[in-house]
Amino acid sequence: MMGELQRALADGGTGNAEVVRDLERGLAQLTGADYGLCVSSGTTALISALWAVGVRPGDQVGVSALGPSMTALAVTAIGARPLFLDCASPTSFGIAAEAAAAALRAGVKAVVPVPMWGYWDEDPQVLRALRAAGVPVVVDAAQAPFLRLREDLFELADVVCLSLHGRKPLKAGEGGACLTRDARIAQEILTLRNFGQSAAITGHRLDPAGPFAGRFGLNFKINALGAAWCLSQVADADAVRTRLQALRDTALAVLADRGAEWAEADQAPGVAEHGRYGLVVLCPSPADARALADAVGGDGTEVDSRRYRYGPAYRAPFLAQYTTHCPRAEELTARAVACRLEAFTSSTATEGVTA
Ligand SMILES: *Cc1c(COP(=O)(O)O)cnc(C)c1O
Repeated sequence: MMGELQRALADGGTGNAEVVRDLERGLAQLTGADYGLCVSSGTTALISALWAVGVRPGDQVGVSALGPSMTALAVTAIGARPLFLDCASPTSFGIAAEAAAAALRAGVKAVVPVPMWGYWDEDPQVLRALRAAGVPVVVDAAQAPFLRLREDLFELADVVCLSLHGRKPLKAGEGGACLTRDARIAQEILTLRNFGQSAAITGHRLDPAGPFAGRFGLNFKINALGAAWCLSQVADADAVRTRLQALRDTALAVLADRGAEWAEADQAPGVAEHGRYGLVVLCPSPADARALADAVGGDGTEVDSRRYRYGPAYRAPFLAQYTTHCPRAEELTARAVACRLEAFTSSTATEGVTA
């Protein structure tokens, strides 16, 4: 990692440094995209992707009701309005077919599925129907950088957005990335990210070219020091996988040890690899979920029903103005015990296995 940090420093640490290009190439390879564009956060990745596919102020964007407030906030940053979409069942993070159809009728300009905690349960037909109707699909995979499908994710998604925040599986401190197979979308993202400069394209490499404010754009670039750190993780992605797998085994052992009744959240049959951010189990009732969370949580860990209350995004005060009632999302979140795998690095949780 020191070599990469030194290279980043030699280039002034900016978002146009060569280590950033290396990270972009590494993330594209990891996910199967043709183009990777690093940006300053997962939030700016979503803003950039939505802008690049044509979302503009006043538009509506369909957003999974089970996503965090960050997903819908990115929509509102453009001046667009989130339309919250209910999930397919009270055990699934996938978007309901009826909700997608209603979003189409409402004239949404994009739809954002969110594989929360790493769980992908989208119906490929639903996403294909949206795209066939001219509605781009932007996957908020901030919590699912390792998500792999047996079929090709980029056959179902126009852009996949990652967060490289320090609490996500791949870390740059702060950072994000847009991944796509679409050269035009990639160019639009670069323009927005680099103060409105157009993109010069050589093969799959994009470089900023032309004047600032050639078109609308801002500075959404990543800091190369964070990118250098992230590059060292991407270069040894199997080590990250192994570590997260061990944490998942610990988490499952802790939950099994509590003797409660639960079942893990659904995943689509087409999932080849979980997104690897968290573990979600669903209990028979909200009271069971609270009891299990308290039993697992104890002092100081994140797995705590009081501190880590999970609900549909429209519960957040600012997002309540866009309220849509999503009964299945309400039921899922009330019965869920959800935890980041990295919460289980804490000694409290690890001791729980043997206690
Ligand atoms: C963390 C997260 C974001 C925001 O990413 P930042 O890098 O913190 O801006 C967006 N969506 C989801 C699903 C997230 O988990």
